[in-house]
Amino acid sequence: MAKMLIGTGITLVIVSILTGILHGDFWEFILFSVSGVSFAMILFGLSYLIRLKEEMLDVITIHHHYYRELHMTKRTCSNCSHEYDAIHNTCPQCGSKAKASV
Ligand SMILES: [Zn+2]
Repeated sequence: MAKMLIGTGITLVIVSILTGILHGDFWEFILFSVSGVSFAMILFGLSYLIRLKEEMLDVITIHHHYYRELHMTKRTCSNCSHEYDAIHNTCPQCGSKAKASV
C-alpha cells in the first residue's frame, strides 16, 4: 500500500510536469507542476503514515507475544508453594522474594 502510494505520487509528478510542458505556456507549466508536486507530497505523507502504522503494529505484536510468554511462565514460591506469573518479582500470596525462575 505504501509503495503503491509512492509510485502513484512519482507518476503524478511526471504526468503533471509533462502536461505543463505540452501546454506550452510557462505559467500553466508552473501551475501543473506545483499542483502535481503538492498532491504527490500528500501521497508521500500518507505512505509515511502507513509505514509508521505498520512499524507500530509490529512493535505491539512483539510486546504482546513477550507479555503472553511472561504470563505463561509460572513461578512457585519457595516459602508458601503458591504458583504465580513470572512477571511478578515477589509472591503475591506471602510477599516472599522470587529466586531463580522455574
Ligand atoms: Zn509465597
